[in-house]
Amino acid sequence: MNLPADVQNIISILESNGHEAYAVGGCVRDCILGKVPHDWDITTSALPEQVKALFSHTFDTGIEHGTVTVLMHGIGYEVTTYRVDGKYEDGRHPKEVTFTASLEEDLKRRDFTINAMAYNDSKGLVDLFGGESDLQTGIIKAVGDPMERFTEDALRMLRALRFSAQLGFEIEADTYEAIKKLAPTLERISAERIQVEMVKLVTSDHPEKIRDIYDTGLSKVFFPEFDVMMECDQVNKHHIYSVGEHTIVSMTLAPADKVLRLAMMLHDIAKPACKTVDENGQNHFKMHPVKGAEMARDFMRRLKFDNDTTDKVCILVKNHDDRPEITPRNIRRLIIRVGRDNFDSLLAVKRADCLAQSMYHREEKLAYIDAMEKEYHKIIADEDCLAIKDLKVSGKDLIQMGVPQGQKIGEILKALFDEVVDDPNLNNRDYLLKRIEGMVK
Ligand code: ATP
Ligand code: MG
Repeated sequence: MNLPADVQNIISILESNGHEAYAVGGCVRDCILGKVPHDWDITTSALPEQVKALFSHTFDTGIEHGTVTVLMHGIGYEVTTYRVDGKYEDGRHPKEVTFTASLEEDLKRRDFTINAMAYNDSKGLVDLFGGESDLQTGIIKAVGDPMERFTEDALRMLRALRFSAQLGFEIEADTYEAIKKLAPTLERISAERIQVEMVKLVTSDHPEKIRDIYDTGLSKVFFPEFDVMMECDQVNKHHIYSVGEHTIVSMTLAPADKVLRLAMMLHDIAKPACKTVDENGQNHFKMHPVKGAEMARDFMRRLKFDNDTTDKVCILVKNHDDRPEITPRNIRRLIIRVGRDNFDSLLAVKRADCLAQSMYHREEKLAYIDAMEKEYHKIIADEDCLAIKDLKVSGKDLIQMGVPQGQKIGEILKALFDEVVDDPNLNNRDYLLKRIEGMVK
């Protein structure tokens, strides 16, 4: 295993001062997989004060948990003292952590075998629970008794699904059974921590593993809408899957971007609530995008997503099924509705949605999206007016022409903007000034 020079350096400084030190956890796992770790964690027998005394640039990140960040060449390395987690009384946080001199104790408290390996150049790989073999066969397995481990910390259940999605691994049978039994206890975990794991799951290489949140019962706790989608079939020629399966397939067909994958996850959230049956037994889902944007917002609020992500996702949900006739005017209006910066995302959402439907009219549907994209590019290339600030006149002109400051200015600009969106040729200063004269007379 090739440790970066800084990591080797930290480890040898600790070792030459009589301590043990190893790279540990995610970085060891990623190295064995041939991936480049995104950060390096070090575990050591040295106490936090001893670590701090040995390095010139450190700061206290989680000193009460034994973590000191050592800064080298501008990169932070978390150096954590070997520890045993005390009793978890609430299924969330250990009551206290105790430092220990034993690497084995430290590895035992970790969640999964693949995350419980340590390495340094002098001792080689320390793999006490069969992590390397589980990595080779692609298995997520709890360290020790899964029922105990998930009772200590309920978040580990969702982490198991998240790692299985990131690595494309299966969850070992006993571990999976324990998740099914203890799923309701996820209720103790904060929305923020659930959000972190869900984002990692949905932006992974295997977003289809989201199916397991339903199969294990975890979604019941924080995403009951997903259960309803999984249990909602759709009888109509556009679809071959239930709402939930269609949603899952569409997620696999969208680029691995947070907003896009969340938009796919939520795009049909309101279909069950909007479902009707016509006289031929066919299902319809009128207004599901509008209602869906509301439900998506509600879900994202609950999981404490930031406003920016929430707004973007909700715009995509709301407009995912807009299908205006392709005219320059209609596409300009659509760009204005979703926002220019979101338009590429809207096209990606539409394509993923289409490809997760039946073959019925598939070619026509894709050709329609292509035509929409083409028109969009033309509008951008032509620099058509897409915002009031793109008008060739401004509020200043209106004031100079004697319009009193206030609401009236906004109204006039909006009226001119509407005209110009319909016909970009009208965005010339002379014409607009004449129009204003006519309006204020
Ligand atoms: P990532 O690539 O997502 O950072 P990671 O394995 O490094 O994956 P972290 O959440 O950064 O995951 O945690 C670092 C290590 O700490 C894990 O590899 C694992 O050994 C241990 N760990 C983290 N969270 C828990 C937990 N809830 N219970 C037990 N051990 C945990
Ligand atoms: Mg990590």
